[in-house]
Amino acid sequence: MNYQAYARHNIHTMPFYGRLSREQVHNIKIVSEVFPFKTSNYVVNELINWDNYQDDPMYILNFPQRSMLKPSQFDSISRMLEKQASKTDLARHVHELRLTLNPHPAGQMEYNVPTLKGQKLTGIQHKYDETVLFFPSQGQTCHAYCTFCFRWPQFTGLQGLKFAMKESNLLISYMKENPSITDILITGGDPMVMKASILEKIVKHILAADLPQLRTIRIGTKSLSFWPYRYISDPDSEQLLNIFRRITERGKHLAIMAHINHPCELGTEAVREAVQNIRDTGAQIRTQSPLLRNINDDPAIWAMMWRKQINLGMIPYYMFIARNTGAQAYFGVTLERSHQVFNNAYKQVSGLCRTVRGPSMSAGPGKIRIAGISEARGEKVFTLEFLQGRNSDWVGKPFFAAYDPKAQWLDELVPAFGEPAFFYQKEYQKLMKVDKLQGPTLQTDNKQSA
Ligand SMILES: *Cc1c(COP(=O)(O)O)cnc(C)c1O
Ligand code: SF4
Repeated sequence: MNYQAYARHNIHTMPFYGRLSREQVHNIKIVSEVFPFKTSNYVVNELINWDNYQDDPMYILNFPQRSMLKPSQFDSISRMLEKQASKTDLARHVHELRLTLNPHPAGQMEYNVPTLKGQKLTGIQHKYDETVLFFPSQGQTCHAYCTFCFRWPQFTGLQGLKFAMKESNLLISYMKENPSITDILITGGDPMVMKASILEKIVKHILAADLPQLRTIRIGTKSLSFWPYRYISDPDSEQLLNIFRRITERGKHLAIMAHINHPCELGTEAVREAVQNIRDTGAQIRTQSPLLRNINDDPAIWAMMWRKQINLGMIPYYMFIARNTGAQAYFGVTLERSHQVFNNAYKQVSGLCRTVRGPSMSAGPGKIRIAGISEARGEKVFTLEFLQGRNSDWVGKPFFAAYDPKAQWLDELVPAFGEPAFFYQKEYQKLMKVDKLQGPTLQTDNKQSA
């Protein structure tokens, strides 16, 4: 099958266009002014159930939904289009609206971009000791766009917020200076949109550097769900699989970090074949997904998804909590609910599925998991735990926040037992070089720097 993308400019040519109600078309037009919209012929033809598309998880996952914007936001854009406002006015309005949606959560730009000999490495993020994220320039788009994507600003041209790196030699020099780094995580966008020849150059370059510290190359991708033919019948599929083979034959671990949100993504002949072809190269596939209201907010869905993954030979890895950006109001669930969904799913699956960890917030200080809701010293509390920390000493120590049934993110939590701060906060502030006088207070500093 040949890859075909559908976006707002060619929505009229979509084979299913006639099945969309006028209201849906209007919603797509308005909301895709703010959030990026793209889907693929594979998603449209093989994943979405068009008989009941408005409730279909894959439809909601790719097609902009009216409630992703506040009614006032939706109406304001709708009115501007009706009045045929000028392009510049509309663009300015949309830009301002986007800036209210916390486009750059977790302080990725400010805090995770390293420098090498005074030069900012804008295509690299380094937050946790062992793993460096690499954003190759040619991999900064995706076969389709997820409506909930926390990297949405990079697909909308929000200026100055884009990561990308042309040169892999800067990455290699940086690793040489930081021998604690064992893992390179190639990410995007989706690096699997790159031509095999480009990935080959990067990989050859990395392997030729012969870094003894390098143990693992990871590739973050949603291509198994949006375009599994990447590993089957694209003109360069064979070349791509050969690159995977080259990595594993060099004795490096290759981990495909597959983003999979719903078991329906695992049901087609194409995805099964793609998984098999990848595994035949010696690569492992690990899976991760955020928990999303309107898509997978149900323990039965997660249990089924993890079981299917084990059947196919994939390893469940992370359940994330939806980030505090973009349309979180539409997709987010409370921390309490995320804990319930995780636990109810986790307890009904085989131990082989329980390699999964979560539910986890990727926040400024680190990946923080809701480990439980319990009573201690007469108070109802969330028990939290770092799975990854900006300082690795923080990992694995339980700590406690006052129970809050409405909280959806770390910045809404306060320490339990009337304590003034979480145990890591003072040091975190120091690490972030937050000016104590001008900076946020201890209790609320998780958001800006998250
Ligand atoms: C999640 C993440 C990693 C990888 O963490 P693991 O727990 O090793 O999978 C690395 N860097 C950043 C910035 C991350 O968010
Ligand atoms: S595939 Fe990943 S980066 Fe691309 S839109 Fe989806 S979540 Fe975002």
